[in-house]
Amino acid sequence: MMFMTISQPQPQTRLCPACKAAVPLTEDMVVAMWLEDGATVEQIHAGDCPDYLDHQARLMESVERTRQKEERARQLFPDAHARFQAALQSLPAEQAAGPFAAALAELVSIQAGRFFGNGGFVILPEWADILDRHFPATGR
Ligand SMILES: [Zn+2]
Repeated sequence: MMFMTISQPQPQTRLCPACKAAVPLTEDMVVAMWLEDGATVEQIHAGDCPDYLDHQARLMESVERTRQKEERARQLFPDAHARFQAALQSLPAEQAAGPFAAALAELVSIQAGRFFGNGGFVILPEWADILDRHFPATGR
């Protein structure tokens, strides 16, 4: 019988240049972990470490920006999609190209870039922007 062990690589521990906190952990310390080149890195900080607090603040700002983009997209998408549908349905059958082809070409181009890059998908804010650009609301 053969046994296989799945080894979990140990995280690399990196000393914080600001607070230089190290093991043993105490209650007022925090451990930050992240992935870097596929490896887990951990860094111990004093709870009031300026580097840690700055990093947390930037993280929260990034989360807030993402939330705002998502919210804007959720507002933009339904109407942009409706305009897309209306434009599509109003076309004579022999004339189905124009902005549809341009919007599709842009979406495919972005998705292809992701496919050959990090493998992500075109996200809702991008869909909403592309539809809004190719099928703009009238009167603005
Ligand atoms: Zn620190």
